[in-house]
Amino acid sequence: MSIETILVVGSGTMGRGIAYVSAVGGYNVILNDINEDALGIAETDIQSFFKSGIERGKMSYEDAELSKSRIQYSLDLKKSAGKADFVIEAVPEVISIKEETFKKLDEFTRDEVILATNTSAMSPTEIGSFTKKPDKVIAMHFFNPVPKMKLVEVIKGLETSEETASTVKEVTRRIGKEIVLVNEHPGFVTSRISALVGNEAFNMLMEGVGTPEEIDKAIELGLNYPMGPFKLGDIVGLDVRLKNLEYLHKTLGEAYRPSPLLIKYVKAGRLGVKTQKGVYDYIAK
Ligand code: NAD
Repeated sequence: MSIETILVVGSGTMGRGIAYVSAVGGYNVILNDINEDALGIAETDIQSFFKSGIERGKMSYEDAELSKSRIQYSLDLKKSAGKADFVIEAVPEVISIKEETFKKLDEFTRDEVILATNTSAMSPTEIGSFTKKPDKVIAMHFFNPVPKMKLVEVIKGLETSEETASTVKEVTRRIGKEIVLVNEHPGFVTSRISALVGNEAFNMLMEGVGTPEEIDKAIELGLNYPMGPFKLGDIVGLDVRLKNLEYLHKTLGEAYRPSPLLIKYVKAGRLGVKTQKGVYDYIAK
């Protein structure tokens, strides 16, 4: 089956980036959300991705306009899913929301349509079990910010077919990303390491080891990470980070117990860049 239209479900931090790179890769895109305001903000953000793409010399004005015209915004999942040849889900990292979404996608899409999840850490096998076509369910883990980050970590569930994996490889290449194909285990490769480092940084902050600036600088210059754990956590979203840790704590054990300080930040609504305040204050900046 030739893939022309990609449906992206969830237009938050990740969904809007995935919609953008898919359109730039030449696909027609439908970006769906249940929240009209979120969809409006996504559209504004996507316009700014195109603007910055032109400014950085990555695309011509004409190409940007063409790609932009390929994106539709929709609140109607049933209608959108009926038109889709390929689906990438980017709803919140909460298993009940994934379950509800995949049950609907299973019902609304044609049998041959692949359903990919952008979960950071959850099991594509479990997510596949919410559908009648687990052979067509796979994880496609994009990174934030999607327009800049080169990798997509692809994870096959127990029932995922080779054919599904090979189609996902083709789609990923067409949208200009590199792939690692890994075996399913909670947290895959990247989230398992990133959650551990990010959580430990919060424990250090709680213990008074250093300021966020000092801890970030130590990790960047001493360990040669491109970005310190607090800067990264604020971009990822501290609520997203906490949900990952809760899942990894449940599945992998004590090493992933969420830091009490991280929990406190999330309770205070300090979620990072998206709320203008996380570990760092972006309003002041
Ligand atoms: P987000 O909170 O920024 O966005 C989620 C969006 O989904 C919101 O706009 C919300 O309105 C929408 N939504 C909620 N329920 C929905 C439904 N039933 N149908 C359609 N839309 C719905 O979340 P995010 O950071 O974009 O994360 C999305 C997924 O991507 C999660 O599984 C997360 O773990 C994963 N992920 C996140 C990052 C990151 O850095 N933020 C990186 C890789 C993967």
